[in-house]
Amino acid sequence: MTDILVTKAAVRKLAASLSKIDSSSLRHTDRLDVIADAFGWRTDAFMHALKGNSTAGGKARVAPSTLLAGATLDQLGIRLLDSWMRAISSPSGLCLACGATGSGRTTTLAASARHLEASGRRVYTQDNFPTASHGDGDVVLFGDLRDRTTAERAFGYADSGYLVLAVSPLFTVERTVEVLSGYGMDETRFGVIRGAISQHLVRLVCRSCGTAGCDVCSHRGYKGRTLASHVVRFHGPDDVSEYLRAGDGVWHGLAGDVARKLADGQIDIKEIDRKEGCSGCCPTATIFSPRISWRA
Ligand SMILES: [Zn+2]
Repeated sequence: MTDILVTKAAVRKLAASLSKIDSSSLRHTDRLDVIADAFGWRTDAFMHALKGNSTAGGKARVAPSTLLAGATLDQLGIRLLDSWMRAISSPSGLCLACGATGSGRTTTLAASARHLEASGRRVYTQDNFPTASHGDGDVVLFGDLRDRTTAERAFGYADSGYLVLAVSPLFTVERTVEVLSGYGMDETRFGVIRGAISQHLVRLVCRSCGTAGCDVCSHRGYKGRTLASHVVRFHGPDDVSEYLRAGDGVWHGLAGDVARKLADGQIDIKEIDRKEGCSGCCPTATIFSPRISWRA
């Protein structure tokens, strides 16, 4: 596929050509001739290139289809967004979106990839994994680290100069590392991890009625969603091992986010109750329990 180069010169030439003739009197094909000529193309080739551009989609310089649209990072309600942005801005390494199925991990990573692409970094997805052996800061948007082979692959990219964005089926980076160790991966490999977000998707209280139910929220009492989340960021291998040894966990951070959103009235306690036990892999019963003193 050849790109049609839209230069100022071509546009000027087109404007000049059209000003010389009464374009409304031209037949469709004649008009196309004028346009193609302005861009320095034969009409049939020009039409072919146009079709190619609009239907072939995602190759080469065009953003992969998964990245074309969607929320921006700052619309997701991520607490410590700045830390996450810094983590994904690392030249290489691995960043994890951790959480239960349906917690919006893929959305977080797609928004992250779009952000990086907008800042000029090349983004690969599972439809077009990179073939070059060294990443030079390119980004790989990975799927789920569901088994050892997949995890090895993701860490392999992270080791060789790519910034890998991957989904973890577990709730925290420490649980993820624990399971990957169980697969037989060596501890030293976890040093490439640059950041992790642990997230739960929670419904936002309807701003019009405050859960009473109204037309705006289709009488559900909730409208839209946000994240209850915590971000950890690592500066290097020592940082990672220190964090894992300390075993502080993400719970205090997550509880803090929940507390703030409860205090703001963005979410309500019923929604938190609903989240209890939403995933077998995390102590949600501990975090998402109304009896813990978040309100303080
Ligand atoms: Zn409402």
